[in-house]
Amino acid sequence: MDFDLSDEQRAIQSLCREFAQEEVKPRAEAIDAAAEFPYDLVKKMADLGLMGLPFPERYGGAGADTISYALAVMEIARADASTAITLAAHVSLGSTPFYLFGTEEQKERYLVPLARGEMLWGFGLTEPQAGSDAGATRTRAELRGGRWTINGTKAFITNSGTDITGGTTITAVTGADERGRAEISNLIVPQDTPGFSRSKTYRKMGWKASDTRELSFVDAEVAAENLLGARGRGLRQFLTILDGGRISVAALSVGLAQGAYDEGLRYAKERHQFGQPISKFQAIQFKLADMLCEIEHSRLMVLKAAWEKDAGRRFELTASLAKLFSGETSRRVVNEALQIHGGYGFMDEYPVSRMYRDQKINEIGEGTNEVQRLVIARLMGL
Ligand SMILES: Cc1cc2nc3c(=O)[nH]c(=O)nc-3n(C[C@H](O)[C@H](O)[C@H](O)COP(=O)(O)OP(=O)(O)OC[C@H]3O[C@@H](n4cnc5c(N)ncnc54)[C@H](O)[C@@H]3O)c2cc1C
Repeated sequence: MDFDLSDEQRAIQSLCREFAQEEVKPRAEAIDAAAEFPYDLVKKMADLGLMGLPFPERYGGAGADTISYALAVMEIARADASTAITLAAHVSLGSTPFYLFGTEEQKERYLVPLARGEMLWGFGLTEPQAGSDAGATRTRAELRGGRWTINGTKAFITNSGTDITGGTTITAVTGADERGRAEISNLIVPQDTPGFSRSKTYRKMGWKASDTRELSFVDAEVAAENLLGARGRGLRQFLTILDGGRISVAALSVGLAQGAYDEGLRYAKERHQFGQPISKFQAIQFKLADMLCEIEHSRLMVLKAAWEKDAGRRFELTASLAKLFSGETSRRVVNEALQIHGGYGFMDEYPVSRMYRDQKINEIGEGTNEVQRLVIARLMGL
């Protein structure tokens, strides 16, 4: 067993660390306070090749492996969770459906500009009444005269309404199978489709500098060839996407926890009480030791899931375990990092207060903690 990163993985990690610490971290507080989408940082991530990191070079990507991608998300999240989710959702949710299920023509048309970071794309699964129960979709699409007519609503869709968003791929009921069950397919809906509109971005507790919107389809029409993958395979395809997406959300949790640990450690050394730095109190030392222990545990789980994926092995169980454990790790670590700050941690000018707000969604998005436990139990054969 070899725990060393390859030269390429280490190079990507240090490139991302430098970019995140020098360019993302100094912007994090301001873009959070203004709920401002950071177009310039997205452009820089594109210039660095991050927006298409794990896709082959022939499709505009950087040809890196999943481990490198996970390391990149960790480094960006360590500096700012909003920028990290913009990257992770773009790669794992927006672009991967084209890579896994698109025709060559669809890959050329959509994946290439996405991987180059020239545009963003949404992944439209969740609906107001269909969250964890994603198969309960009510959005419908009918094929009439060679065109799909779409009606319905999607909720909480990341990257769906920025100035550089090209469209969203959605799930929609396109009929019923022979047993009368909903037939769900994936449809590519470009942004300029008549009848397709986006709400303003939600006012959120965290991830404030990321773009999240409700989507509405009123007799929105797209061409028959905007079907992605096989008709009737839409839910299965999206669940497959979420299996991989869990690795990036888990990486995001590890990065956020690491960022909070950095802040807690720095503050513990600076803050004096009772005539000495609070880092000299065993109570604070034990907190920091526990935080480091959990971060290391989570990081290894994420890297193992990424390694399994790169090796072409089944990775669903490890990815779910990593997603669940890192999400909960981020909660415990951020909470303790704030505790180390005392009252100052409650003040907006300390990064740990933003991290505390940004953390909660790690236990909800891409499968809640409860759903993660259900998935794990199913994969255990229960
Ligand atoms: C900021 C943000 C960004 C998002 N981005 C996207 C995106 O890009 N694309 C997309 O499609 N979706 C996106 N989502 C949606 C996200 O994936 C859902 O919020 C999540 O899956 C949970 O669905 P829900 O919010 O409807 O909660 P619900 O499913 O209504 O769950 C409510 C509670 O019930 C529990 N629960 C539900 N079912 C069960 C069960 N069977 N057993 C035990 N407990 C259960 C849940 O764990 C939770 O605690 C985003 C959400 C947010 C907040």
